Amino acid sequence: MQVAVLVLAAGRGERLGSRVPKAFVELGGKSLVERSLETLSRVPGVNRLVPVIPPGSEELWAALGVSVPVTLADPVCGGPERQDSVRLGLAQLPADTEWVAVHDAARCLVSEAEVEAVSRAAEETGAAILARPSADTLKIVRSDAVESTPERSACWVAQTPQVFRVEVLREALDKAEAEGFVGTDDAQLVERLGVRVRVVPGSARNLKITTADDLRIAAALLR
Ligand code: C5P
Repeated sequence: MQVAVLVLAAGRGERLGSRVPKAFVELGGKSLVERSLETLSRVPGVNRLVPVIPPGSEELWAALGVSVPVTLADPVCGGPERQDSVRLGLAQLPADTEWVAVHDAARCLVSEAEVEAVSRAAEETGAAILARPSADTLKIVRSDAVESTPERSACWVAQTPQVFRVEVLREALDKAEAEGFVGTDDAQLVERLGVRVRVVPGSARNLKITTADDLRIAAALLR
C-alpha cells in the first residue's frame, strides 16, 4: 500500500497567539510542520508528502529547508476552511494515487506505529481514522444550557491521520461542497456518503497543539 499524505499547515493558529502561523512555531528547536513531515516520511508505504501552508508563508517554508527521504511536493497554499485546504492539496496528487492520508501538522507527536496502524485499517475497509476514547463526559450545549449528554462510552475524540481511498475523499468533498456543508474533519464528510469509517485507537500523545498550554504539554512529552 502506497500512501500520499496531505500535511495540513494552513491554519493561522490564532488560539496559540504567536507571530508566525502555528505550524511554523517551534517545539524543542524544530517547527511543528517539520516534525510532522519527518515522522510521516519514516512510515513504510508513505511515498509522497504534500505540505499545505498558509498563503503568504512561502518564504517561511523555504527557510525551513525541510529534507525528508520520500518525495516532498512543492507546498500548496491552503484555503479559508480546512476542507478547502484538503481539496487544494488533493488536486496536487498524481492521477494514479490510490490512498491519501490527511494529517494536521499541529499533531506533530504522532508515532510512526500509529500512522502505520491507521493506514492498514484503511486498506481493509477503505476509510479509517485514529481516535481516542473520551475521558470526559461530553455535553451538547446550546444557548449556554445543556441540551443532551451522549453516552460517554460511545464518545471518541477524533485525531489524524485519517486515511481514505482517494476517490472516496474526492466524492465526499464534492458532496459537501454541493450541499454547502462545512465539516471539522475529513471523516465527517466521508460518513455523509454512508461509508463506514474504521476507528483505530490513538494515544494521548497525538494531541493537536492549539493553545500555549498545549505547546508546554507537548514540550514536556518530548522531554
Ligand atoms: O482549525 P483546526 O485546529 O481544526 O485545524 C487543524 C489543522 O488544519 C491544522 O493543522 C491547521 O493548520 C489546518 N488548517 C488548514 N487550513 C485551514 C484551517 C486549518 O490547513 N483553512
